[in-house]
Amino acid sequence: MRKKLIAANWKMYKTPAEASDYFQAFLPLVKDHTRDEIAVFPTYLALDVAIQAAKGTHVAVGAQDMDWRTEGAYTGEICASMLVAVGITHVIIGHSERRQYFGETDDTVNLKLKAALESALVPIVCVGEVLEEREANLTDDVLRRQCTRAFHKISAKKAAKLVVAYEPVWAIGTGKTATPEIAADAHAIIRGEAARSFGDEFAENLHILYGGSVKPENAKALMSADGIDGALVGGASLDPKAFAAIVNY
Ligand code: PEP
Repeated sequence: MRKKLIAANWKMYKTPAEASDYFQAFLPLVKDHTRDEIAVFPTYLALDVAIQAAKGTHVAVGAQDMDWRTEGAYTGEICASMLVAVGITHVIIGHSERRQYFGETDDTVNLKLKAALESALVPIVCVGEVLEEREANLTDDVLRRQCTRAFHKISAKKAAKLVVAYEPVWAIGTGKTATPEIAADAHAIIRGEAARSFGDEFAENLHILYGGSVKPENAKALMSADGIDGALVGGASLDPKAFAAIVNY
């Protein structure tokens, strides 16, 4: 059995002070939880507060994005080694909001994934179709394309830490959730693509998370579905009680 990873993507919410309050409320609610891995992804400015608060607990802290370059004149950017230096262990790559609003492409996802795999970070690569693609029966094609291009020229050995998140864009922040069956089908496509790129054994062990309006009420059904190895939670993760309820589904 793959241990599940339950991740909180805070997006552009919470000041450092609010992050500190969150951890004070959240940590006692998950202190006995050992079944799954837990990771919280605050904004860059709240990373340090989160790392200090989570020290000595089993809650990991990740970043929501990173640049693929190692250093240089790239105003506003942050690279993998800087994240590792402050104690970050995970990074989200290619979230649909980065693709939609900040010019992230399959190629930049590939560059970032390669850079993260060269570092100590665990990369969570997000893939998923928009509503028009689903309605046009293009979900399989989109997932295959996003995976193939994200995994381009990466060896199975290098990719060992890879995590993928299936995040149907029509379900993100909309209150609409993929049914466990829809999610399981998409996860099977992604796992197939991972097998094609990295081999069957790799694919068998790959963690594929589901993201898209996961809430305390639907967490159990989703997390029990075939091939779903955890959750990437946006809106509901902003409330410590709701996120704890998802973790403890
Ligand atoms: C996300 O942003 O990754 C996400 C899944 O958001 P939400 O849970 O709000 O749909």
